Amino acid sequence: MEITLVKTTTPKPKPDPSKLGFGRVFTDHMFIWDYNPQQGWHNARIVPYGPLEMDPASAVLHYGQAVFEGMKAYRGPAGEILLFRPEQNMARLNRSNERMSIPPFDEELALQALKKLVALEQDWIPTAPGTALYIRPFIIATDTVLGVRPSTTYKFIIILSPVGAYYEEGLNPVSIYVEPHYVRAVRGGTGFAKAAGNYAGSLLAQKNAQAKGHAQVLWLDGIERKYVEEVGAMNVFFNIDGELITPDLGDSILPGVTRDSILQLLRSWGIPAVERRLGVEEVFQAHAAGKLVEAFGCGTAAVVSPIGRLEYQERVIEIGGGKTGELTQKLYDTLTGIQTGRLPDPFGWVVKVEP
Ligand SMILES: *Cc1c(COP(=O)(O)O)cnc(C)c1O
Repeated sequence: MEITLVKTTTPKPKPDPSKLGFGRVFTDHMFIWDYNPQQGWHNARIVPYGPLEMDPASAVLHYGQAVFEGMKAYRGPAGEILLFRPEQNMARLNRSNERMSIPPFDEELALQALKKLVALEQDWIPTAPGTALYIRPFIIATDTVLGVRPSTTYKFIIILSPVGAYYEEGLNPVSIYVEPHYVRAVRGGTGFAKAAGNYAGSLLAQKNAQAKGHAQVLWLDGIERKYVEEVGAMNVFFNIDGELITPDLGDSILPGVTRDSILQLLRSWGIPAVERRLGVEEVFQAHAAGKLVEAFGCGTAAVVSPIGRLEYQERVIEIGGGKTGELTQKLYDTLTGIQTGRLPDPFGWVVKVEP
């Protein structure tokens, strides 16, 4: 695929690496790919980062026909540029597309474009421990018709953002509110897709939980509101008596790359790891029986996020004495070690980008 390149004439100064935060600064260039029914995906180009000119009738602005991905590029010890299982993100983006009636794209070509953009912007990859270059591919519907129907035109865009360490001083267990009323996703819905609207719909519960002093919500299933699904925009694991349990995948759970990697790591270590329905009552009973050893969320942004406290219907439990669990820490160290090229990569997960 030919990708045309227009370089910026006004490169930005690099931000202070100690003040990056998450997703607040963007690099000098972005990738854009257009879709129409006659030409398919065409006009692949890298252009200076900047505002998009959009018609106010654009479909995405009204009915939210949009999907996205989140991944990271890291600097290896010898200065290599490393991606983590990027083909998984591209495959998932196409699955999200299918659910949202967006035409599929060629995953190889998209990955080629992503690599070219990351290589061009390599000086933006921060090097301090815990930092990375966050990669945000997304697709938006651009037809200018107010009828409710799939758009016939789209834009596939990739933007890049250097991000700071999620934890300034090591892993930090957080307090989580088990959301009793609002749900994130239902059977037959769009929860397994990284569809923009899923996140808009989750904000109210998140805001309420934060007002109650919690970091995030734990979502229950949308039908009985009894079974654990996810924590915020992360998958979730519970260690009950030495067995690691995560909800099994279905329409309502996002199939995280981190979740899958953790399952593979645990199994390779001989630790029992099961995917099954897990009732929130079972979690509280395990705690009462002294068997709830640790719990954590997992996703690309935080990698692993220990849960130190859970509140559900006026009941509050502390997990692991509010400290990071042993396995939680080991998973974090191993995953980040593999991702940054500081540990061997027995599963062949890491993909090098030619500078
Ligand atoms: C992105 C996301 C995850 C985590 O997926 P990763 O591939 O591990 O980053 C989990 N849950 C939700 C709802 C998500 O959007």
